[in-house]
Amino acid sequence: MTTPTADETPQQAAVRLGCGTSQIGRCVTCHSFCRRYGPSGNPLCPACRTGSTGA
Ligand SMILES: [Zn+2]
Repeated sequence: MTTPTADETPQQAAVRLGCGTSQIGRCVTCHSFCRRYGPSGNPLCPACRTGSTGA
């Protein structure tokens, strides 16, 4: 039994986002994985970037 997105690994996040694990980092706001480093990196995930944190 595996928990879905809550326990997503950096490897799984890299596959989901289509980038390398070296670019994966935690969103500073919601702490979910996002493409944080590299040329198109951003410390905020797409959801937080658009201002819809949901919390
Ligand atoms: Zn976020």
